Amino acid sequence: MYLDEMLAFNKRFVENKEYELYKTDTYPNKRMVIFTCMESRLVELLHRALNIQNGDVKIIKNAGAIIRKPFDTVMKSILVAIYKLKAEEVVIIGHHDCGMSNVDIEALKKEMVNRGIPESTLDILEHCGIHLDEEFHGFNTVEESVLKSVQIVREHPLLPEGIKVHGLVIDPETGKVDVVTRGD
Ligand SMILES: [Zn+2]
Repeated sequence: MYLDEMLAFNKRFVENKEYELYKTDTYPNKRMVIFTCMESRLVELLHRALNIQNGDVKIIKNAGAIIRKPFDTVMKSILVAIYKLKAEEVVIIGHHDCGMSNVDIEALKKEMVNRGIPESTLDILEHCGIHLDEEFHGFNTVEESVLKSVQIVREHPLLPEGIKVHGLVIDPETGKVDVVTRGD
């Protein structure tokens, strides 16, 4: 398990007071909340490519940087960042070559069954109104998906005046960012 390696590293990190390099408070220095994909290629690249230092921004992630419902946990986190943590700009960043583009739902269901989930469980969920097709549906193009998410934030009934909402797409190889839409 990688966990043990991580814990051993952490012990040394704290003992050597390496945390001192990262001291900051909880309010984002750049007054910004970023919502992006959980993509592992972006763990460090996104910060380096956009010059984000520790303490600069609030970061929210999920699979695909997807918001589809106005009251999901992502949207709630964005609202908390705005109301409680002084964020004034919201930036949604999708990326090229994302695992959530064109998700094969049938293959995913098969994989679940292969890993021991009874097919009856899938049927019961379907009966309860939890449609895996909807839940796991990703997107066809990343630009379209970013726009959709941006739209949900911009039109949110609880979004206060003056918050700028932008949509970007980043290349996970080069870090190059393209603007899909910018808030005014
Ligand atoms: Zn992704």
